[in-house]
Amino acid sequence: MAQTHALQALVEALKGLPGVGSKSASRMAYHLLQHDRQAATVLAAALTQAVRDVRHCSQCHTFTELEVCETCSDALRDGGQLCVVETPADQSAIERTGTYKGHYFVLMGKLSPLDGVGPKDIGLLKLKQRVQLGTVREVILATNFTAEGEATAHVISEMLRAFGIRVSRLARGVPAGSELEYVDLGTIAHALVDRR
Ligand code: ZN
Repeated sequence: MAQTHALQALVEALKGLPGVGSKSASRMAYHLLQHDRQAATVLAAALTQAVRDVRHCSQCHTFTELEVCETCSDALRDGGQLCVVETPADQSAIERTGTYKGHYFVLMGKLSPLDGVGPKDIGLLKLKQRVQLGTVREVILATNFTAEGEATAHVISEMLRAFGIRVSRLARGVPAGSELEYVDLGTIAHALVDRR
């Protein structure tokens, strides 16, 4: 059966998502159109709204609908400490330990030359500008303990070397190759305290 143009376009759009191949894309499209038109409408509206309203926080680069996100505008947090994480999920993992009360910078990714992800794509210029303001005393590098996370931490620490601030790395209690999101809270809390 030849696909209609609209169906073909939907399958192509779904195929553009990470980890979705041709077969899954077709299955999703058929499912939505055949069995769950209500969900399809909700999904379309949610996508349209998110694309319109969600942007990057002007300070920490995370997703927000505000100019400055709620974490950055929290007056009780210490703006002298800046914890650099790869994703909002990693930020949440550190937040859940309840031991960190500083600010964050969320890269929304990691350096990955093979995938064409360079310093500009993970907001390193914005991070540099933030540090140049002179209010940050310490940057804590809490990127994941994967090869790319380590490389990202290395590049950032080199970039910040000239600023004469303390740059520390989450301690090695966290197993090599692991993503913070999946590490237990006690381990992250210790790694924060023991940072070097
Ligand atoms: Zn923010």
